[in-house]
Amino acid sequence: RVAVVGAGVSGLAATKCCLDEGLEPTCFERSKDIGGLWRYTEHIEAGRPSLYPSVISNTSKEMSAFSDFPFPEHFPVFLPNALLLDYLRRYAEHFSLREHIRFGTKVVSIRKRPDFATTGQWNVVTEAGGKQTSDVFDAVMICSGNFSEPSLPLQCFPGIERFRGQYFHSRQYKHPDVFQGKRVLVVGMGNSGVDIAVEASRVAAKVTISTSRGAWLLSRVFEHGYPWDMILNTRLMSLIKTNLPGPLSWWLINYKVNQWFNHENYGLQPEKSWLVREPVLNDDLPSYILTGRITIKPGVKEFKDNSVLFHSCSEEEPIDIVFFCTGYTVSFPFLEESVVRVENRHASLYKYVFPTHLQKPTLAVLGLIKPLGAIMPVVEMQARWVSRVFKGLCKLPSHSVMEKEVNEKKKNQVQWFGLTFDEVLKTEWLVYLDTLASYIGAKPSVLGLLCTDPWLALTIFFGPCSPYQYRLGGPGRWEGARQAILTQWDRVLKPTRTRVPAGSSSSFPSLLIVMGFLLLLAAVIFGF
Ligand code: FAD
Ligand code: NAP
Repeated sequence: RVAVVGAGVSGLAATKCCLDEGLEPTCFERSKDIGGLWRYTEHIEAGRPSLYPSVISNTSKEMSAFSDFPFPEHFPVFLPNALLLDYLRRYAEHFSLREHIRFGTKVVSIRKRPDFATTGQWNVVTEAGGKQTSDVFDAVMICSGNFSEPSLPLQCFPGIERFRGQYFHSRQYKHPDVFQGKRVLVVGMGNSGVDIAVEASRVAAKVTISTSRGAWLLSRVFEHGYPWDMILNTRLMSLIKTNLPGPLSWWLINYKVNQWFNHENYGLQPEKSWLVREPVLNDDLPSYILTGRITIKPGVKEFKDNSVLFHSCSEEEPIDIVFFCTGYTVSFPFLEESVVRVENRHASLYKYVFPTHLQKPTLAVLGLIKPLGAIMPVVEMQARWVSRVFKGLCKLPSHSVMEKEVNEKKKNQVQWFGLTFDEVLKTEWLVYLDTLASYIGAKPSVLGLLCTDPWLALTIFFGPCSPYQYRLGGPGRWEGARQAILTQWDRVLKPTRTRVPAGSSSSFPSLLIVMGFLLLLAAVIFGF
């Protein structure tokens, strides 16, 4: 019996993977429906992320799918939040997940049973309708998300207590009418900050973004109009990223990200360009800067009664309203600190999933990771691995090996492509997926396929690493995986080629055929 906490993307994947492995999941969801973050409500609910209506996924539908359930072909390539929720509803329906979910039930405490050292069991206390119930579970998957506790570090902003205008955290943002005619300051240049600044600038008198570190900006519409993640997250790119010498990869990323526009000219150049955090995905910001709708300023030095002073700027800027888009903190209030301890947004978890010191590996955390790519296939892969660990089919290394690896990660060394994400939660999307897939025997063998199915092998190696690749073999093999991979570009083009009917396939794969054989040679030399 497995307790799953939360019925968002992670909880749904966890419930489904438990069922696939013949485990018995009970998913507890404190709100009244599935979807977590992706279920927009006008009213902000405690313990659940709050969206603004205009949120659109920043990862494409082919890369954001669960590995055995592609998005409908007519869905747009990037998904407005309502369509992402629609997809999750279809997923829950298709795999009959709802009957395993207890809605309106909050998990209030998870404690080891006295005989934990031998049984690995947990006492899970839940609360529904004001009544508490305690149940015993053999294992627990924590899928409670990490974007519902706002981080509002007011102590970092001297003078904020005497600022006479209004200030909010981005979690409170819903509609741009609050900005009508106002002089707006947005603090923080993550995805929330840029989205909110762009919306505000359509109605506000003036909009300024204050960023201490700057950021690389990517467009959803990448090279030749293809989705950014389908171009960047390929096996070939991953091989290059992880093998190029540091300075060369640094030069390459600088070159790539500055192709759209020169970040320095737009005031966005990251402070330390080799230490970039999560890139910001926004299609409008450069043109809004060009047209003077948005101004970029350095970090805030001090707030005054009706204005703000920035570092290295002598002039005060009058401000009416401030939005602190300063991100979120993570916590697990239902767990004892001795089980999972979060420090500086970093939990000491092996592969971002398992606490390293438990006598039995019967508790896992899903989704506490920030790779440069869609989270859906990542949490699904975590759930596939975890359910097999729970069943005893996969073994974890010794405590000391796990601890050593976790401590290495804490040092936060820049290992690849000169990128660090969120300073503490970072990993290379494809490498991480491959690593977990190899634990459960679901990592595709490109060389093996080259002998048996060369066209598929080339598509897998040179094309986007779409999640269906992890259902070609191993446990949970899906018959439709090969077809889903070979038709992925058709589903991308379907919603856009609406005037002239689509040909047999896109030009991108055809180009791959030509380039493929040449590059394959180089790839073999690098070593798979
Ligand atoms: P959540 O969606 O937060 O779900 C957690 C669930 O657990 C909630 O339903 C909550 O009610 C429930 N819960 C919490 N505590 C308890 C409790 N004690 N008892 C019972 N239930 C509980 N990722 C992408 O890959 N692509 C994107 O385009 C993308 N866009 C994003 C946009 C925004 C604005 C944000 C904030 C994040 C975005 N992300 C994106 C990352 C996002 O985290 C994932 O897409 C994903 O939705 C996370 O799902 P989750 O299930 O882990 O958490
Ligand atoms: P975030 O990515 O954590 O960014 C927060 C920003 O706040 C930081 O980058 C930093 O910006 C600033 N900041 C943090 N602490 C600060 C401090 N003490 N003083 C000053 N500034 C500070 O948070 P987010 O933008 O809310 O995004 C959260 C998650 O949601 C991300 O994973 C994001 O991708 C996702 N998201 C996605 C979409 C979408 O379109 N799909 C939309 C919104 C959010 P500076 O360094 O620039 O100062």
